[in-house]
Amino acid sequence: MRDGFGRAIDYLRLSVTDRCNLRCVYCLPEPAPRFAPSAGLLTDDEIVTLAGGFARLGVSKIRITGGEPLVRPGLPALVRRLASIPGINDLSLSTNGVLLADQAWELKAAGLGRVNISLDTLDPERFARITRFGRLKDVLSGIEAAMEAGLAPVKLNVVLAKGMNDDELGAFAALTEGRPLHVRFIELMPMGETGFFTPERRVPLGEMMAKAGPLEPAAQEQRPVGHGPARYYRRPGAAGTIGFISALSCGFCGSCNRVRLSSTGALIPCLDGDDGVDLRAPLREGAGADTLMALIRDAVRAKPESHGMAARLPAPGASPRLMCQIGG
Ligand code: SAM
Repeated sequence: MRDGFGRAIDYLRLSVTDRCNLRCVYCLPEPAPRFAPSAGLLTDDEIVTLAGGFARLGVSKIRITGGEPLVRPGLPALVRRLASIPGINDLSLSTNGVLLADQAWELKAAGLGRVNISLDTLDPERFARITRFGRLKDVLSGIEAAMEAGLAPVKLNVVLAKGMNDDELGAFAALTEGRPLHVRFIELMPMGETGFFTPERRVPLGEMMAKAGPLEPAAQEQRPVGHGPARYYRRPGAAGTIGFISALSCGFCGSCNRVRLSSTGALIPCLDGDDGVDLRAPLREGAGADTLMALIRDAVRAKPESHGMAARLPAPGASPRLMCQIGG
């Protein structure tokens, strides 16, 4: 399946809930937004039907996300069904890791391949401040469980912001030295009306690299499976790698291969786009597979050439939706 600019779209980011068990300051406003009513969330059957349509159109990779996907009841059963869709050969999960220690083995047994765990600090008090109440030790247990369960490669996603955690790049980078952990530093983006993003909070790529060093480019065979827009490096002799994802600085839209399905069934062609195309209504009105696939194809064809976040930087209006509504 190709979009209007010839890019092959083979990757679906699938949000299974908009709810989250953390309230990260750069992700959610306080008080938290009203989440979608439960009846508005896609059911397991609906998710599997739509995912099957995407797979028939050429999607081979699915990343389950949220909100926090592990708060969705019965996730392992859904994972089992997604893993058995013909054509899906890479099934992964993005999580904040809080509930992962309890679910890692069951998810692995259900067919989950690998996990990305979001973690922005290694300091317990700072963790509680950034997430507004989370406990770092829950996430650390989740990381251990993921590694023991073989949900490999385990990647840690670290969103960076000046004054929030930009003094911790070295500590995160050191985690990759002795173990096959892959740390990716992610540039803060202006998403949703959280009031957190300002251009001054961005950590430029050069500064990230200097603070994470010493670094050498990671050879192709050293890079973890599923590398998308990250540029990968490693500390000399390290077991893991260090990636940098700079959506604003690096302009990687030209090789974008992904679309997103929200937990309420909107197909969102671009992270920074409008409300997307509603697939839930036609699905609930009884549309058949051909109709749904035609809607998907049309929405993918209309995927914008690039996001507008960098262009808006001098006066950074946030993207209309919160990250928890899109899934990152
Ligand atoms: N709860 C899951 C998790 O924590 O990975 C999945 C959803 S979360 C919205 C996905 C990712 O988006 C997380 O890594 C989070 O840190 C990131 N994120 C949220 N708001 C962001 C922002 N304004 N800029 C960059 N990344 C952001």
